[in-house]
Amino acid sequence: MTTHRRRHDHAKPYAEQDLGEVDATPFAQRPTPDGTGVVVAGTCPRCHGRTETLFPWGMPGTGSKGVLNLILGRDPAPGPEDPLSHEVHFCECGHPHPQCPPDTSYRGCGASWRIRR
Ligand SMILES: [Zn+2]
Ligand SMILES: [Zn+2]
Repeated sequence: MTTHRRRHDHAKPYAEQDLGEVDATPFAQRPTPDGTGVVVAGTCPRCHGRTETLFPWGMPGTGSKGVLNLILGRDPAPGPEDPLSHEVHFCECGHPHPQCPPDTSYRGCGASWRIRR
C-alpha cells in the first residue's frame, strides 16, 4: 500500500494558500528557447500537479528594467538571476480545481510557495 509517487489530486478544492518555503528537489529551471526568461518547472506541493512558471528577464524594446528586476527592486544584473530562490511560485497545474474562482490569473489549486535553497 505504499505509494512512491503522489498523484495529482484533482479533487482538492481550490484555496489560496501560502505554503511558505518548500524543498527545491522537485523543481528544475531552464532558459526559454528565445532567451527572454527562464521556466521553472516542478510539482505543486499542494495538489501534486505538474506546474511550469515563466519568469521573463525583461521586455525588449520597452525600455523597462524587466519584470523580474521590478519585482526585486534593483537594477538589472549582467547575469541571470536565480528565480528558484527569489520568486513566489504559484500553482499552474492547469487543472480547474473544485471551487476555483473564474477570474484567477493562474489555473491551479491556488497554492503559492517559495523554494528553499
Ligand atoms: Zn497545485
Ligand atoms: Zn492541481
